[in-house]
Amino acid sequence: MKILVSACLLAYPCRYDGKSKPCEEVVLLKKEHTLIPVCPEELGGLKTPRIPAEIKGDRVVRQDGKDVTLEYNLGAEKTLQIAKEQGIFVAILKSKSPSCGNKQIYDGNFEKRLIDGKGITARLLENNNIKVISENELEEL
Ligand code: SF4
Repeated sequence: MKILVSACLLAYPCRYDGKSKPCEEVVLLKKEHTLIPVCPEELGGLKTPRIPAEIKGDRVVRQDGKDVTLEYNLGAEKTLQIAKEQGIFVAILKSKSPSCGNKQIYDGNFEKRLIDGKGITARLLENNNIKVISENELEEL
């Protein structure tokens, strides 16, 4: 099966801090599946490293106050396009990210407080009937 995967979970150094967040269980899925790495924030034109951003209401705002909603939306659209081109029905996306989080995100105040909510890309994929799970929910595969 082809699975879309947050690139940072596969050790690509694409996170805001220029690091990755490799998840061994996800990497091991390569043995049985074709993993398609994507980083929606980079696809949206954001540089790495970059100033962190959080979702605040219907906007995505960087820690320095700059609105990056357009870039986040563009990255989500491009990710969806890749998923459609590749015939993908399942995505494993990094938890808690303002792009990739599927259940919880930070509350928009940069105080490390989590709230229920979805990242921009996770939401768009789910709205297009693509199942999104996090690296902590692999049993749902
Ligand atoms: Fe990882 Fe997603 Fe953030 Fe890219 S946008 S660094 S893939 S969590």
